[in-house]
Amino acid sequence: MIGDGIRDVENGLNEFLSTLRKDPRCLESVWISIITFNSNAKQLIPLSELTDINIPSLGVQPGTAMGAAYQLLTQCIHNEVSRGTPHQKGDWRPLVFVITDGQPTDDFSKSTAAINSLTNPRVANVYAIGCGEDVDFGQLNEISDIVLKLDSLDPDGIRKLFVWLTASVQTASIEVQSTEASPDGINLSKLPAELVKVEKSAPRRTDQRPRQVFVKATCSVKQKPYLMRYKLVPEAGYYQPVKSHPLKDDQQGESQSFQLPPISSDLLAGPAQCPYCGNNGGGVCTCGQIFCVESPPPASMECPGCHQNIPFSPDSGSFTIQQSEG
Ligand SMILES: [Zn+2]
Ligand SMILES: [Zn+2]
Repeated sequence: MIGDGIRDVENGLNEFLSTLRKDPRCLESVWISIITFNSNAKQLIPLSELTDINIPSLGVQPGTAMGAAYQLLTQCIHNEVSRGTPHQKGDWRPLVFVITDGQPTDDFSKSTAAINSLTNPRVANVYAIGCGEDVDFGQLNEISDIVLKLDSLDPDGIRKLFVWLTASVQTASIEVQSTEASPDGINLSKLPAELVKVEKSAPRRTDQRPRQVFVKATCSVKQKPYLMRYKLVPEAGYYQPVKSHPLKDDQQGESQSFQLPPISSDLLAGPAQCPYCGNNGGGVCTCGQIFCVESPPPASMECPGCHQNIPFSPDSGSFTIQQSEG
């Protein structure tokens, strides 16, 4: 997930935590773990009691490594959730909420074994929530027990999603403490209007082209990194610039390791505006560095990557990328 949505998710998570912490039942029975996935998957917070958790900044990174996320999820459940023995009661079956706004960018087929190990025997209930139009709901259905769709990725939609998540966890915490009920699932009848259940028969997307692509660039004025986000125009077959997202300085090192699939410059309809200086043009150096350029471009300028001087020919104001580097 990228862009303003990520901040709304952080706010939602903080609200989620603070509400659960005020609920004595939840304090007693709820443990939380958070796994993030972008260009790879990472366990941000190991399974912890509510009082031990601080939500860190989730950061802005492209990619939807859902295959890696499911593999990591399986490992974490295996390592952290205790199974019952004849002599001791184990933990309750985990509720897993997968929140994504994209289609997988990694090779999902490698995760099939991991996913099967979640369901056979069933060790977790997996609810997937697809946000926005880039999600392949047919594919989510194959790897989740229940799939929900959140149409609008706006602050209000995300806030309502977390209100529902909070209520679902609170309800589950009541059920585990009553003697009869078992927390096999969540009462979906209480879904807010913004969240819609996706039928199991939803078809898999046949168009495999990524709905979004990201290109890394550096501001030539402020020397800071950013990501340009492009959106597929399916009928036209090219990608239109949507927005640029600043990368935090402390992500600079990490941003070097983004694995973005290569994209031909022919498919990109110009640069997105630089988020730091507002430059509308873009250029690419022979070293591979992509950077913002004022328009019209100057006669020559210094590459912010390798610092060589790059002359611009009169028609080089256009944006050309051989391919986005990894
Ligand atoms: Zn700039
Ligand atoms: Zn260069």
